[in-house]
Amino acid sequence: MSVMFRSRYMPCDECGASVDRAAGREHECSSERRTDFEMFGLRGEVAQLESGVRHYLATAGGRFEAWLAARHVRGRS
Ligand SMILES: [Zn+2]
Repeated sequence: MSVMFRSRYMPCDECGASVDRAAGREHECSSERRTDFEMFGLRGEVAQLESGVRHYLATAGGRFEAWLAARHVRGRS
């Protein structure tokens, strides 16, 4: 993420797409992408998703996936 901010590619405020500022071309937002970006920015949606994930992690299958995720994180660090 921090690499992206240092590069010439800047995330569009409207749709979150990476815009090549050096290209000199005018960026046109995709309405579909913009909708996704706005949904992503909604705190309520995120909170709902988080509680949904916690509920999922409480199930047997979720616990297995959490174990896989933890294993994955340890492997990368
Ligand atoms: Zn845009």
